[in-house]
Amino acid sequence: MKILLMTAHPDDADIMAGGTVARWLDEGHDVCSTIFTHGEKGHEDPRMTPERVATLRETEQRAAAAVLGGPRLIFLDFVDGELSWAGPTLVEAATRLIRQERPEVIVTHDPFAGAPGYRVPQLHPDHRVVGATVVDASYFRAPGPLYYPDQGTAGLAPHRVREILLIMSDHLDHVVDISSTFDRKVRAVREHASQFGRHPDLEGFLRGLATRAGAAFGVPLAESFKRLAPS
Ligand SMILES: [Zn+2]
Repeated sequence: MKILLMTAHPDDADIMAGGTVARWLDEGHDVCSTIFTHGEKGHEDPRMTPERVATLRETEQRAAAAVLGGPRLIFLDFVDGELSWAGPTLVEAATRLIRQERPEVIVTHDPFAGAPGYRVPQLHPDHRVVGATVVDASYFRAPGPLYYPDQGTAGLAPHRVREILLIMSDHLDHVVDISSTFDRKVRAVREHASQFGRHPDLEGFLRGLATRAGAAFGVPLAESFKRLAPS
């Protein structure tokens, strides 16, 4: 099976789906993780520059991926915090990636998090924009030959994904047991030292996340998702 993760920043996928990625890799699946920005605004030291943070976070992400078992990584160069203003190049890039990678399963952000009626106050605009863009590209653009015909000319045939798993959702209906990979997930998230280096109890935090994710499904340690099945 081919799986494509599409997230906004380094660490998003490792925190929400790292155990699942490790399981998929253990099972021999082809896993590719695309990160739209380098997360270059994500540092608390004002003496850092975005360029240095970008380099640091790419290094951390590569180390984290190695711990999980080595998903392929693709870094795009959209600007951290400014995906809302990226314009049509964002969805074109997402469509191109889907046609290149031709995944059966896509993992991305829930575009509705933070919307009225949703309990998750997940308001990072980059997360919403990536989620909306990837769902749009998956449902409508990647399968449609009249979208971006230049991509077709370049050899990228239309492609339809089988399912989309949304992270950071509160409408969770799909669970993955990560009991066998939880320890690796903790070590992978720890590699994002610029984000979690000073966390007083990172393992406890991640264990709490996994316990709560599994509770509704009777699984001790889990990651859970909202599943969409485009037709
Ligand atoms: Zn993020």
